[in-house]
Amino acid sequence: MRKTFFTAAIAIFAVVLMLLAHFGARLTMTAPTFSFAAQAREVYLTFDDGPSEVVTNRILDTLQKEQVKATFFVVGDRVWGRENTLRRIAAEGHTLGVHSQTHRYGEIYAGDDALLRDAAACAATISRVAGVTPRVYRFPGGGHFEKRALLEREGYRVVWWNAVCGDEETRNASAQTLFQTAVDTAQNKDPVVLLLHDSAPHAATAEALPAIIAHFKAEGCVFCQF
Ligand SMILES: [Zn+2]
Repeated sequence: MRKTFFTAAIAIFAVVLMLLAHFGARLTMTAPTFSFAAQAREVYLTFDDGPSEVVTNRILDTLQKEQVKATFFVVGDRVWGRENTLRRIAAEGHTLGVHSQTHRYGEIYAGDDALLRDAAACAATISRVAGVTPRVYRFPGGGHFEKRALLEREGYRVVWWNAVCGDEETRNASAQTLFQTAVDTAQNKDPVVLLLHDSAPHAATAEALPAIIAHFKAEGCVFCQF
């Protein structure tokens, strides 16, 4: 009788332990599950072809005001005379990436050596002026998927895009049109890698940026940088 009681007590104790382990495990698993569920859609704002004086700085003002970080794919030759703008991009915590030294397709894509020389020249410019070593690369003109491994061997992460604001495709598009194109092309994408341009002709892009940021914020997205 006593033995039976003892066995039963051990069995009950074991069941309690199992229940504790079960719910304990569930509790500990619940935290990451919730944070996973709360993991918002990611938006990468990427700006190509800068720096420029007015447009890049206007974009930086907006990013600073909205507390949003972005990635700038820089053309090395356009840095000269705008060194402070390049330094500002880095100082305000944005990512600087390589987008060629010249943006002249004929020279950049003349061969593998030419492509690598061009990337190295742009990287050297960024590093000399802003004091950071770029680790991301975007092909001028996009495409060139077959060349990806070449750049990756040099240590770059190669970045394309899956949404556009249309500032290069549509000449003189209004800020409203750019905003709508960004919203439309980003639909159902996660992450969103949005292509924008901060070169001199793109005042409308800078004008559209606050609304673009407001849209993604309202959708609960988080802004990321490469
Ligand atoms: Zn470009």
